[in-house]
Amino acid sequence: MAGQRARALKAQGRDIVSLTTGEPDFPTPPHIIEAAHQAMLAGQTRYTDVGGTMQLREAVAAKFRRENGLDYRTEETIVSTGAKQVVFSALMCTVQAGDEVIVPTPYWVSYPDIVLLAEGKPVFVDCPAAAGFKLQPADLERAITPRTKWLVLNSPNNPSGAAYTAAELAALAEVLARHPQVWVMTDDIYEHLIYDDQPFSTMVQAAPFMRDRTLTVNGTSKAYAMTGWRIGYAAGPQALIKAMVKLQSQSTSNPSSVGQAGALAALTGPQDFIAPHRQLFQRRRDLVVGGLNAIEGIACPVPNGAFYTFASCQGLFGRRTPEGKTIASSDDFTEYLLESQDLAVLQGSAYGVPTHFRISFATSEERLAEANRRIAAAVAALG
Ligand code: PLP
Repeated sequence: MAGQRARALKAQGRDIVSLTTGEPDFPTPPHIIEAAHQAMLAGQTRYTDVGGTMQLREAVAAKFRRENGLDYRTEETIVSTGAKQVVFSALMCTVQAGDEVIVPTPYWVSYPDIVLLAEGKPVFVDCPAAAGFKLQPADLERAITPRTKWLVLNSPNNPSGAAYTAAELAALAEVLARHPQVWVMTDDIYEHLIYDDQPFSTMVQAAPFMRDRTLTVNGTSKAYAMTGWRIGYAAGPQALIKAMVKLQSQSTSNPSSVGQAGALAALTGPQDFIAPHRQLFQRRRDLVVGGLNAIEGIACPVPNGAFYTFASCQGLFGRRTPEGKTIASSDDFTEYLLESQDLAVLQGSAYGVPTHFRISFATSEERLAEANRRIAAAVAALG
């Protein structure tokens, strides 16, 4: 909604600062583009194996071994059209009508909608800022029923940036040990965007006994700036992977052969550009968090990872805009920012938290500083 309205205003010639994007603002590294180019010239423009080329699945298995200490055979991996298709296929293949899927809130918007599409029931568990936006073991325990099929974890998280430590994951696994019917889908797409030297950890690494009921999801979109190439991948129990490949064969067939060639270069080629990007994002994060927390009525926790801040604007509720409208939700506040300051950010209701708003800092420091100025001006004008 906010994104659409922002585009409409931009089309009218307004200087909209848009902090809504969910993708890195730098181009795909040239060696990846070159590898895809060469692959096309070499004839890799045809159908591939439905679940991804053997070469890429081997590279995926090698990535999990190298970076996460996980041991998977190629038959236990799948390559899909983005991490989104991985999530979609896994839920479609496993969720029966009425099955419950635990979705910690705030959540990436697609999880509940895909659960609903599979006729499942999303079970939301509140993870407040005071708990670092992280699922607490006791809350997980309370949410589990005999119908629970999955717990969806996303770390670092979109929109909050929260990233679980190995100890926090192990504590959740301790609960899950008592509930063998519950599987874990862990969406690790922001793995490489984690700050302050926090080591990244994922469920099976932290709790190896969860291997038989965990799907570890990842992709090339965020770390390699390849959102348009549409390559995601996963590792998990072979029977689940087999079902997902079957669904893929009757829906999209293989992911793009050209995208796969690029992803192969991404996973097997130089990784040295990732750390400077991480440092750049961390600097931008600090700029945004500092700016927001200097504004009375806004409270912004420091995100551990990803490229989003998720700040509360609850301190402004009850204040009035110069036009006489009372701010009662983040929908009101974000609409006010767009209409009065030409600044587009996303309302927290999209992520299940109507007191907060999301800023993407995947844009230049200059634009971010300008955004800080506009938010401060908007708040200063409130009565
Ligand atoms: N998972 C999360 C948490 C995301 O934020 C996104 C994209 O915004 C995706 C998955 C989708 O990734 P992909 O481009 O690989 O489909």
